[in-house]
Amino acid sequence: MTEPPAPETTDEPAASSNFIQDRIQADLDAGTYGGRVHTRFPPEPNGYLHIGHAKAIATNFELAARNGGRCNLRFDDTNPETEEQHFADGIVEDMAWLGYVAEDDPKYASDYFGQLYAWAEDLIDQGLAYVDDQDAETISQQRGGYGQPGVESPNRDRSPEENRELLRRMREGEFDDGSRVLRAKIDMQSDNMHLRDPVLYRIRRAPHVRTGDDWAIYPTYDWAHGQSDAIEGITHSLCTLEFDSHRPLYDWCLQQLELPFERPEQIEFARLELTHTVTSKRKLRKLVEDGDVDGWDDPRMPTLRGLRRRGYPPAAIRAFVDHIGLARTNSTHDIELLESFIRTELNRTALRRMAVLRPLKVTITNWPDGEVVLLDAVNNPEDPSAGTRQVPFSGQLWIEQDDFKLDPPPKYFRLTPGREVRLRAGFFITAQNAVTDDDGRVVEVLCTYDPETVGGSAPDGRKVKSTIHWVSAAHAVDATVNLYDRLFTDAHPGADGRDPLDSLNRHSREVLTDAKLEPSLAEVSPGQVVQFERLGYFAADLDDPRVFHRTVGLRDEWANIQKRNQNQAKQKQQAKQRKQRS
Ligand code: ATP
Ligand code: MG
Repeated sequence: MTEPPAPETTDEPAASSNFIQDRIQADLDAGTYGGRVHTRFPPEPNGYLHIGHAKAIATNFELAARNGGRCNLRFDDTNPETEEQHFADGIVEDMAWLGYVAEDDPKYASDYFGQLYAWAEDLIDQGLAYVDDQDAETISQQRGGYGQPGVESPNRDRSPEENRELLRRMREGEFDDGSRVLRAKIDMQSDNMHLRDPVLYRIRRAPHVRTGDDWAIYPTYDWAHGQSDAIEGITHSLCTLEFDSHRPLYDWCLQQLELPFERPEQIEFARLELTHTVTSKRKLRKLVEDGDVDGWDDPRMPTLRGLRRRGYPPAAIRAFVDHIGLARTNSTHDIELLESFIRTELNRTALRRMAVLRPLKVTITNWPDGEVVLLDAVNNPEDPSAGTRQVPFSGQLWIEQDDFKLDPPPKYFRLTPGREVRLRAGFFITAQNAVTDDDGRVVEVLCTYDPETVGGSAPDGRKVKSTIHWVSAAHAVDATVNLYDRLFTDAHPGADGRDPLDSLNRHSREVLTDAKLEPSLAEVSPGQVVQFERLGYFAADLDDPRVFHRTVGLRDEWANIQKRNQNQAKQKQQAKQRKQRS
């Protein structure tokens, strides 16, 4: 069987111009940051990275590199209850696997708690922040809504002295969680809800992984983020579109402060979303906690560690992210497009091997008793430098159950009594007979072989209609092979306010425990991806190389989707023309 054609990669208009690069170039031209370009990737260490983060990582690092700048990794560790050190360590590891390592050591927002506090006092002194004693619910109600007036807090006009003193006591842990907050004093009638006296500090009397019991108050995202950017000298603070409405607050905070560098600018881009996929750490965490998957690194997870175990090459993920480009509107990409990148890369790099997943025994009745021959097989037709290997052939083989049928349906060209087929890199064989068990199931196929056809062609020029793969029974290596289906049956899990877990595919994994591999696969290294001929690409498990995960099948489903879309467009066009004529 031949490899399907490599997918087209010019199917969609890649983001026409990279609008962020244009902004950076404009700043460079204008000398806004004295020629500096400094970005950052700011994950919260409350889970592991997913495929969406790959886009944010690549965007930040690639733009910095392209402009001779730097990119920081900064942990946004401002929620002590949900954050854990092993997540932070895992994030560094996963980024390195993807191909990105920050030049400097990882930074932590918690390193800046002292400076953030001092700046909060500055706001208080300027009459721009106050401690509010109202509870969260009251504050939220008073915020009003779009077209609805906000209500000013009765605590809004406290003196700077009183505010400083209360904030100090909040910090010392004198008050209960949720009993007080520090708010910026901006505008309770603003059309932008984020400017209606947003909360800057909340009380959480919880120990923090890095700062221990030093703090009983923690900054909100809006207070921590822009100020951390400013401390690090970030020039372009890239984030996803949902932060668009936070930008005026981002700017407001920075405008009130004495900064060590020029003020950074926030620029938003579209999230990466994929069909049949959930990219929310909270929801992924739930899958893990509920035991719906084996862990954050389950090969069905869209986490970087899941994709890694699944066998996704990091280069293919990078190529995919680059291909979809940067846009200012959200959209969801077909997961088949990502898979086509995986397939293209693996087609180039993966060694071809033979493996039988659901074995059926074949006995070659005219094979010399006990004889074993070594046959040459090509390692990768796409890469001549990969050379060949030797595969043992003997009188008893395994083939796929599907490759033999006693009563073949029409157009079935594989093995059936009286039919001759080619064994990959081997001989022509003809099925003579089949042995069945009491239930009528075929348990063994008796075949003859033609010694003249070694290597797969007949000297008399006769043709066969199919080639099947096989493994010598005496030499086979036993393995377990996991086949995967979509984790979510719905293309848009969670759309229209539904719970994404409603469309969780309860049959997303099929475990085949009786697979037979050609002997060279005994030496596969953990994580190595090979092509099982005719079946797909499979990754040896990272911990147990006798377990394989199907990375992706061989069929280019993306090409089919494109063809279908083209046909639909054509039909629509024709219908329109018919209508115009009539
Ligand atoms: P959650 O998944 O829990 O909603 P999050 O994805 O926002 O959280 P963070 O750790 O805060 O998690 O994300 C770090 C950075 O990655 C942020 O700048 C965020 O904008 C970006 N990011 C997160 N998800 C995506 C995505 N799907 N596509 C592109 N960038 C993303
Ligand atoms: Mg976030």
